[in-house]
Amino acid sequence: MHNLTVAELIKGLKNKDFSSLELTQHYLNRINNSELNAFISITEDEALSQAKDADKKITQGDSSILTGIPYAHKDIFCTKGVKTSAGSKMLDSFISPYDATVTKRLNNENMVMLGKTNMDEFAMGSSNENSYFGPVKNPWDVSKVPGGSSGGSAAAVAARLSPFATGTDTGGSIRQPASLCGITGLKPTYGRISRYGMIAYASSLDQAGPMTQTAEDAAIILNAMAGFDKHDSTSANKAVPDYTQCLKDSVNGLKIGLPKEYFSEGLESGVEKILMQSIKEYESMGAEIKEVSLPSSIHALPAYYIVAPCECSSNLSRFDGVRYGYRCEDPKDLNDLYLRSRSEGFGEEVKRRIMIGAYALSAGYYDAFYLKAQKVRQLISEDFKKVFKEVDLIMGPVSPTVAFKLGSVKDPVSMYLADIYTLSVNLAGLPGMSIPAGFSGNLPVGLQLIGNHWSEELLLNAAHQFQMRTDWHKHSPAGS
Ligand code: GLN
Repeated sequence: MHNLTVAELIKGLKNKDFSSLELTQHYLNRINNSELNAFISITEDEALSQAKDADKKITQGDSSILTGIPYAHKDIFCTKGVKTSAGSKMLDSFISPYDATVTKRLNNENMVMLGKTNMDEFAMGSSNENSYFGPVKNPWDVSKVPGGSSGGSAAAVAARLSPFATGTDTGGSIRQPASLCGITGLKPTYGRISRYGMIAYASSLDQAGPMTQTAEDAAIILNAMAGFDKHDSTSANKAVPDYTQCLKDSVNGLKIGLPKEYFSEGLESGVEKILMQSIKEYESMGAEIKEVSLPSSIHALPAYYIVAPCECSSNLSRFDGVRYGYRCEDPKDLNDLYLRSRSEGFGEEVKRRIMIGAYALSAGYYDAFYLKAQKVRQLISEDFKKVFKEVDLIMGPVSPTVAFKLGSVKDPVSMYLADIYTLSVNLAGLPGMSIPAGFSGNLPVGLQLIGNHWSEELLLNAAHQFQMRTDWHKHSPAGS
């Protein structure tokens, strides 16, 4: 049952092959027996009661397509009455008083939330090792990282602990863990999905998206997640197409660009080999491959690591020990309260970024750092604009390497390099996707697809056509 895709589960529920309650109980058993640490909270009681409600709705003929489908929710989305920690000690005791818009939308479909998934603290990281709740293990090799920051979600879907999960991607946090865990991950165009109630890391970059087994499932889930929200002024007031309707087109004649800058020094040969194999596959389906250039992409990493920390230092200033979140014991005075609550509540990486951001935004440095980074961001966007005049889609690696050993990457800058191929997509606000494309040394490798703004249909269809021809997305780790 747990190897079924969301599309197959929808059919199974409709045909009464199983009830939502049976399904939910099955996944809960799997989660409870798992040692991957993929979940921060397991919401067993709520899930069982949601499943019973869903079954009732189905029997009464009052259901929608996703009614009764279980899912795992990244612990960055506010969930009313349920702990929402963002992977931080700061929010370890925070019970959200309201639902994020994404949560609400999934609830409106009468879906079943199995629990909240583990993540790097405030979504800062590429390995899930920055979580206050301990690292997540990669289900393909438990000595390896699952990627981050949506590592719990990726591991849960890969290990079939949940049919799909939500994720967020600020610089690669959906695509990179999807690649390292061998699942499909979609980061939509900035503004496609509401950020309301999604704990903010870097507001001009953050975007939610689905993490699934297949592109078809990603289309089904995106239908439910996407759309304008009056609570988020950056959400786009743009009609949501039915993303499942675009999965039938041939890729014959599709123009695919391969940026020469993506074949840089750090790219592992095993990853490059799979990338080239996948490109051949597209070629055999009739796509035209063209070398393109994104010359400013070499500046994406330094620009991102100014913009993201600046925005995070501002966003995280709300955690002051006064209104909600962690408060230190016996503060001497107000300053001591701020100082110790933040020093004790935040982890090392989060503090590093707050300090970098506060420094870069301070008087006298703003022009040299923040403003400069914004200009670089513009150049990166223009590069993409030019390339999308020549090609329909860009393809490249997701991560330069396969999953690495837990604890093996010790200095922050080496960790930042994990997202070298994904960051520029967020800086330009574009949609990007990772799909399973093969294995290197028994570990999964993803292929990245990047589209122009609002080209989710094209991306999903290109991914779906690949998945009709290959079965990489069907592989699951031993024991699952
Ligand atoms: N690894 C990147 C960072 O730490 C991206 C994280 C993300 O997309 N949330 O900022």
